[in-house]
Amino acid sequence: MEKKPKTSPDPADFANVRDWVFDLDNTLYPHHINLFAQIDVNMTAYVQELLQVEREEARALQKRYYHEHGTTLQGLMLNHGIDPDSFLERAHAIDYSALLPDTDLGDAIKALPGRKFIFTNGSVPHAEAAARALGILDHFDDIFDIVAAGYVPKPAGETYDKFASLHRVDTANAVMFEDLPRNLQVPKALGMRTVLLVPRNLDTVLIERWETLTEEDDHIDYMTDDLTSFLKGMQPTL
Ligand SMILES: [Mg+2]
Repeated sequence: MEKKPKTSPDPADFANVRDWVFDLDNTLYPHHINLFAQIDVNMTAYVQELLQVEREEARALQKRYYHEHGTTLQGLMLNHGIDPDSFLERAHAIDYSALLPDTDLGDAIKALPGRKFIFTNGSVPHAEAAARALGILDHFDDIFDIVAAGYVPKPAGETYDKFASLHRVDTANAVMFEDLPRNLQVPKALGMRTVLLVPRNLDTVLIERWETLTEEDDHIDYMTDDLTSFLKGMQPTL
């Protein structure tokens, strides 16, 4: 009944992988860096100014849109017809100095055989800024962002289809790395290998939750709190 995701990679599982697909936030850099806290504050301010409401009200609406539409942006576009570019620019006007060059991660990504993509619900400028700060930008073939997705965020199936057809990704020979379990459901259904990134030092409640994953988590093949070690572990020659 209970199927636990594996924590150390079996290289045989990844031997036929030709396309390596990475979410950006909390995946290519660890959760505890918490860049999202800055983005979150910027989004609240945007909603506050747009609708001329108090901070609390703006925040409640922001979260409602996130839950109802997958991103705050999508909710604002559908309900208020906002210009997505100005929103994205504002949301991602953050300080990237918490991200430091990660040579080990860069080397591990560079050594992967095949193409490497960033597939993010954020924007290309945000992904570029973050990946550049980490010193890993040059190792990626392309970035598929929320604009390329027509502003329809993961986990919508059409967005994965758009990504796969644009880049001619054979999903049977691809793997997806993500920190949000729900964003791995479609990839698994498409035949991709799925790797969930979890925060380091998970608190006890969370660990118990992860250790007792249920059938609904069957779409997660692997989980790890250390992307670099995981990538190295799947390449026996490293
Ligand atoms: Mg993420």
